[in-house]
Amino acid sequence: MNQQQLLQIDREHIWHPYAALPPTTPIYAVERADGVMITLKDGRQLIDGMSSWWAALHGYNHPRLNAAAIKQLEHMSHIMFGGLTHEPAVKLAQKLLPLLPQGLEQIFFADSGSIAVEVAMKMAIQYQHAKGETQRHKFATIRSGYHGDTWHAMSVCDPVTGMHGLFAKSLPVQYFLPQPQTPFGQPWNEDDIKPLADLLEKKGAELTALILEPVVQGAGGMYFYSPMYLMRAKQLCEQYGVLVIFDEIATGFGRTGKLFAAEYAGISPDIMCIGKALTGGYLTLSATITTRAIAQTICQGEAHCFMHGPTFMANPLACAIAAESIDVLLESDWVGNVQRIEAQLKAELQVAESFKSVKEVRVLGAIGVLEMHEPVNLASLQARLVAHGVWVRPFGKLVYIMPPFIITPTQLSALTAGMLAAIEEEYHE
Ligand SMILES: *Cc1c(COP(=O)(O)O)cnc(C)c1O
Repeated sequence: MNQQQLLQIDREHIWHPYAALPPTTPIYAVERADGVMITLKDGRQLIDGMSSWWAALHGYNHPRLNAAAIKQLEHMSHIMFGGLTHEPAVKLAQKLLPLLPQGLEQIFFADSGSIAVEVAMKMAIQYQHAKGETQRHKFATIRSGYHGDTWHAMSVCDPVTGMHGLFAKSLPVQYFLPQPQTPFGQPWNEDDIKPLADLLEKKGAELTALILEPVVQGAGGMYFYSPMYLMRAKQLCEQYGVLVIFDEIATGFGRTGKLFAAEYAGISPDIMCIGKALTGGYLTLSATITTRAIAQTICQGEAHCFMHGPTFMANPLACAIAAESIDVLLESDWVGNVQRIEAQLKAELQVAESFKSVKEVRVLGAIGVLEMHEPVNLASLQARLVAHGVWVRPFGKLVYIMPPFIITPTQLSALTAGMLAAIEEEYHE
């Protein structure tokens, strides 16, 4: 299919994420992707700054992930999980569970991040019900969070930046706490936990769980906060019988410099969600993991089972690739790579602090963020970024990158240079 035909049919019929139809911002046709390079259909090559939204840790078209996919395809691409099991799911669980915060050992494989969050929220409700705590209906969370696009996941996204304000009246109303004020790496201010302490004191008996993205808030604000908040929150929630859910869908698999961001706080949540990088960016797969005690309580409750079971649960193809992706990650020097990327991002993005359009530059692990004063003009800035040979997808006031860990120093320099040049042009810096 030639490029013109492809783009025309796309324009006329196909939705893109958070886009108008026909789209009002440019759409580029991709021919292929290899390593950190994206090749457009018109032959242009872009350095990937997004890892396809936190997912493609090892870059694209990876020989080992390809081989794992082909091998599994030849056995079976999918088989129902009701009453059947298979080696890819079991092997993945075996590899994954020892990496997770202590005590998390009961795993539910779901189809996407949002569904993992729905599953976590349902687990929390079923657990509380099984304990006879049927008055606990509500969830608490912090502002500027993002937990996905499905119904209850939306209800715990930031009501303003979480992209779902339009649905506010149709969603269950949850309790929103202020964003933790102590940034990552700064001395902890005990006042930061007061709003949660107050909420628990007043409404603790109504609350099912507190759901948070630990340390790094993603799509809701790209903000990095003190892990002390997590330690205090866990202690407080325990006192009031409120579960703690960590959404590590974006932070998991080394992105922040730890394998999971919970490690910064040295605590285990009661329930944890992972997704995005789980398959190294190859296929959609997520997981919700909880403790044995919570799982047992759920199964002793009224339903005698956990009430969820997607058609494509534990898809063997996705599980086989995920298991290989974990091996690839652990066999690589991912800690060294993330530290190297962090140091380079800090050094190369710092200059943007003097840009009048830029409010703040933030770097943690392999994540670099420029928070602008105003929302960007996506159509115009996106075109400039592509013209500079980089794939960066700004969102609202945020221009941010989280490249694959395999990016070389030269490629990373070209990525940051392209990003800064596009901003300089756009804002006449
Ligand atoms: C992306 C994301 C989700 C939703 O995952 P999908 O696979 O897009 O449904 C949930 N929580 C966090 C923290 C995310 O970054």
